[in-house]
Formats: sequence, C-alpha cells, structure tokens
Amino acid sequence: MKYDYIIGGAGLSGLTLAWQMAKHNILDDKQLLIIDADKKEANDRTWCFWAKPEMWITELPIKQSWNKAQVKGSDFDLVQDLAPYRYYKIEGIDYYNFIKNELNNYSQITFIQDHIISEDANEKSVTTSESTYHFKDYFFKSYFYPDELNSVQNPKQHFIWQHFYGWKIKTKEIAFDPKVITYMDMNVAEEIKGLSFAYILPDSQYEAMVEYTLFSAQLWSEEDYKNALIDYIQNNLGIKEYEIEEIEFNKIPMTNASFSQRSKSIVPIGTLAGTVKPSTGYSFVRNYQHIQQIIKNIKSNKDDFAINSSVKFKFYDEVLINVLHTSKSSGHQVFGNLYKKNKLPQLLKFLNEETNLLEDLRIMNTVPKWPFIKAVAEELVK
Ligand SMILES: Cc1cc2nc3c(=O)[nH]c(=O)nc-3n(C[C@H](O)[C@H](O)[C@H](O)COP(=O)(O)OP(=O)(O)OC[C@H]3O[C@@H](n4cnc5c(N)ncnc54)[C@H](O)[C@@H]3O)c2cc1C
Repeated sequence: MKYDYIIGGAGLSGLTLAWQMAKHNILDDKQLLIIDADKKEANDRTWCFWAKPEMWITELPIKQSWNKAQVKGSDFDLVQDLAPYRYYKIEGIDYYNFIKNELNNYSQITFIQDHIISEDANEKSVTTSESTYHFKDYFFKSYFYPDELNSVQNPKQHFIWQHFYGWKIKTKEIAFDPKVITYMDMNVAEEIKGLSFAYILPDSQYEAMVEYTLFSAQLWSEEDYKNALIDYIQNNLGIKEYEIEEIEFNKIPMTNASFSQRSKSIVPIGTLAGTVKPSTGYSFVRNYQHIQQIIKNIKSNKDDFAINSSVKFKFYDEVLINVLHTSKSSGHQVFGNLYKKNKLPQLLKFLNEETNLLEDLRIMNTVPKWPFIKAVAEELVK
C-alpha cells in the first residue's frame, strides 16, 4: 500500500504534526503512516517552556504551571513574576497519550513500531528492519543517525550540548516552595567553556525535580553529574534525607548549523529541522510554530517547509554560543549580568524572539561588552 504521507518518529514533532494534520482536515482523503522504533509508553522526558496562556496551550495536558521564578548567582537572588508568561510543565507520557487519543478516531492513520534504517528521496520510500514503505507526497523525518550529527560538527559553526542529570526527589522535611520554580541557580562550580547551573521544578513542598545542567562541548561521565547533583542537593539546598523517584539524564544539541539536507520529498521536522533554539535548548513552542507553518504550506500546496527563522535572532544566538563556546566570557558573568540588569519577562520575550530592535539593544547593553564585540566581529567575518 502507498501512503500519502509517512512520519518517521512519533515523538514531539511527529505526533504534533499528525495531530495538527488531522485537526486541519488534511487527512480527510489521505493515508498517513507513522513509524517509531519505540512504543512511546514510557515517560522519557518532561517538557517545560514559557508562553502566554493561549488557546493551543490550554488544550494540552499541562501537569503544572507557575507564574514566579527565581534566578540566583554569587551576588544576587531574585524572585520575579513572569507575567505575561507562565512557565509550563508537560510530562512526555501525558503528551504521547493525549495525542494518540486524539488520533484514535482516524482510520486513515496507521501506527507501526519498527526501526527505520534508511530513506530514499527518489524512490519515495522508507526502509525499516521489517519492510519498505512508499509515500506519494512527503516523508516527515524527526530522528537522526549519528553520521548526520557528526556532519554538523563543522569548525565554522558552533556545536555545544545542553547536558543534564536530574532527580525527582521526595524529602522528609519541607524543602521547596511549590509556587516558585528555580529557573537558574548559578551557585555551582563554574564551567570554563560554557555555563553550569541547577534548576528546580517543585511539585509540592516535599517533592521537586532538581537538575544539574551544563551548556558545553564536553560531556561528563555519569558519575560526575551525579556527584555535582548530590553536592547541590546536600550543600546548596541543605537537604540531607530524600528518596529518588525519577531520573532524567540526557543531552540536547545546541547549534547554529543546519542538521540535514532537505529534498523535495523528505522534510525534516523537530530537532532535525532546527526547532531547538541554539542559545537555550528549548524547542517545545518553536516546534509547534514550525508545525503550524508546515500545515499552512501543505494546505496552500507550497513545498517550502524550512523553519522560518529570523536572521536577526539567529545571529544573536550565534554570538552568544560563540562567547560561551570560546570562553570569551564566563557563562556565569554573562547570565548574571542579564538577570541583574533586566526583568525576567523581558528576557523571556527576547528569548522568544518577540522583542524589537530597541528592546534588543537595551538587553545587549547589559552583557560584558568586549567579549560580545569580539564575538560579533568573528561571526560577521564567517
Ligand atoms: C530529556 C529531554 C528533556 C527535554 N526537555 C525540554 C524542555 O523542557 N523544553 C523544551 O522546549 N525542550 C526540551 N527538550 C528538547 C526537545 O523539545 C525534545 O528533544 C523533543 O522531544 C524533540 O522533538 P523531536 O520530535 O525532534 O524528537 P523526539 O521527540 O526525540 O522524537 C524522535 C522520535 O524518533 C524515534 N526514533 C529514533 N530513531 C528512530 C529510527 N531509526 N526509526 C524509527 N523511529 C526512531 C524516537 O523513538 C522518538 O520517538 C528536551 C529533550 C530531552 C532529550
């Protein structure tokens, strides 16, 4: 059987695309095949993001949301209101189940659990360990092979990781304020070529996700993350007795390089398409925006599916990664300045790429000057 569309990978981008295709009646007379190597029955990640409480967000299976955040460094400790934004948390498993449930009524959608080995743009086919499937229009691809990752590690571009190790812990004594997230606590050992911090997502006074996070090119051994996290919990938070309920240990590529070659019939989505913002590692909202763009273009028979990214903000991202990656300034100093001299909602607006040039300049005026001027010059030469 020939499908109209195949989606490879039923994670964030693949499932969001299928859901939005169904919702926008794109599948009314079409057949869609979704292939994932995994059953997607485990809670393999938690998504957090800030956004204004818009319609599409209120539909989602939000686990929790907060309107206050704390940022801390060696010489500041600020708790700020996030309005007009809220900070949201969605458990991966809730999102997968929510979308699968939404798609249950569509007989035009077939799910297959199989490992994709290769795809062929000319033949319009996708080969898995079990079979070969053909498509008429597009193959939307959201997974990548190790060699695709290696090819983006180009010396002209910056490639660092956001790598993190966290535990959801339950304490005996009251330890957290459930109304306030710790967005960034930089009272941890400095990472020379990058940024190091901890963050806390509290569920209650006794329960929270505590994560030790780094932005840097060099990954650590599991033992090193674990020791840093234990040190943070015991010595910074002063928590001596706790149970570990969940572990999150993973990494997200942060890069200004393009991940994948686009062809007319194979369309990258998700991380592969560049939805992870290089300077933050966040992608939940950008993924939704990219999917909306794809839906609009399918409906108007346009085949340009590359993510609409602002040249201005792409350049800012490159400059920030340059500063961190080449240790022109310490991450703690850059982010410390930003937090001390700007209100959090304004920074979140900037990171959401919603600020105008005047607002950008006000924010840029608060970072260490020379490191950024040097980085701007280097990026312009490239
Ligand atoms: C642990 C973790 C936490 C994160 N937290 C946040 C966050 O808080 N906020 C935020 O904005 N972003 C976050 N991100 C970044 C980003 O939002 C996620 O990585 C997101 O899941 C990316 O979506 P995707 O569709 O590109 O990839 P995925 O969601 O990873 O989906 C890819 C799918 O492809 C499948 N697959 C892989 N290889 C094959 C193959 N060969 N054949 C068939 N199927 C295959 C996988 O099983 C998976 O289901 C996080 C990332 C991770 C890893």
